[in-house]
Amino acid sequence: MSPALRPQGLADFVGQADTMRNLATFIRAALIRGVSLDHVLLNGPPGLGKTTIAQIIAHEMNCNLKTIIGPAVQRAADLAAVLTTMQPNEVLFIDEIHRVQPAAAEILYGAMEDFTLDILIGEGPQARSVRIDLPRFTLIGATTRSGSLPAPLRDRFGIHLGLEFYSPEDLVRIVTRSAGMLGIGMMPEGAMEIARRSRGTPRIANRLLRRVHDFAVVAGVVAITDTIADMALSSLAVDRRGLDKLDRRYIDWIDTVHGGGPVGIDTLATGLGEARETIEDVIEPFLVASGIITRTSRGRVLTPKAYEVEAR
Ligand code: ADP
Repeated sequence: MSPALRPQGLADFVGQADTMRNLATFIRAALIRGVSLDHVLLNGPPGLGKTTIAQIIAHEMNCNLKTIIGPAVQRAADLAAVLTTMQPNEVLFIDEIHRVQPAAAEILYGAMEDFTLDILIGEGPQARSVRIDLPRFTLIGATTRSGSLPAPLRDRFGIHLGLEFYSPEDLVRIVTRSAGMLGIGMMPEGAMEIARRSRGTPRIANRLLRRVHDFAVVAGVVAITDTIADMALSSLAVDRRGLDKLDRRYIDWIDTVHGGGPVGIDTLATGLGEARETIEDVIEPFLVASGIITRTSRGRVLTPKAYEVEAR
């Protein structure tokens, strides 16, 4: 997705109203007091705006943003190398922070709490610990599963922001704004059709907008209507509720192989040939939020709503 579509400041950000109002207050308070913003933990499914919010925080605080991704942090030394080059009031964004290796995550504890880093120099009896003072900085962690963070790490974030799926109305505003920025003609009903079928997710809305635009261009349609959006989205196998092929394969499998459930996550992962993390972090949150499945202690169960899904 082109970075140009990303909202730059708090004022451009659509949706998550309560969360963003609180965040605006915390940023304002930090600016008035002339201190760095407390550490922020962003939690929510992919594509809801965690990276965007990290960039907005840096922008609003007039800070430089340094980004690293959790899976790349295997050893404590990897993180120490980043932390020791932090500048005063810089923001460090760690995406997928739940995937930082535990031994590396431990050095974050002191860094976040006292802005110090204890590193071990040498080996065996000669080894000694050296304490390095770090400048005050803000750590922003993004995760799709805050429950997997070690509690001592989670507790050191002073600000916890949980992102929810977007309403169709908010997605209409996002699609309309993106269409305007990309010079795509858009009718209000066309924007609503795309919004309703975007799984409550801005990243998906922006992607579908571009694909629907392709269909409109080929059909010689100047502005996207609900009819052209419906035709394009049906061709893309996105059904009227926004469910895609993977969602429907998931639902069909629980229905046909397990009689509607309950079915355990490991059985599902093996049966679908998908990683457990993909199922738990990408597929299920929207199906749970839509009331299509429930997660019980005995496994996943389809609700009557699952059977309303249209086949395409
Ligand atoms: P995440 O980090 O949660 O996976 P991103 O911040 O990368 O999500 O957002 C995905 C895309 O969706 C971005 O390119 C951005 O353009 C768009 N986006 C996310 N949230 C919003 C929003 N509230 N308003 C407009 N666009 C958004």
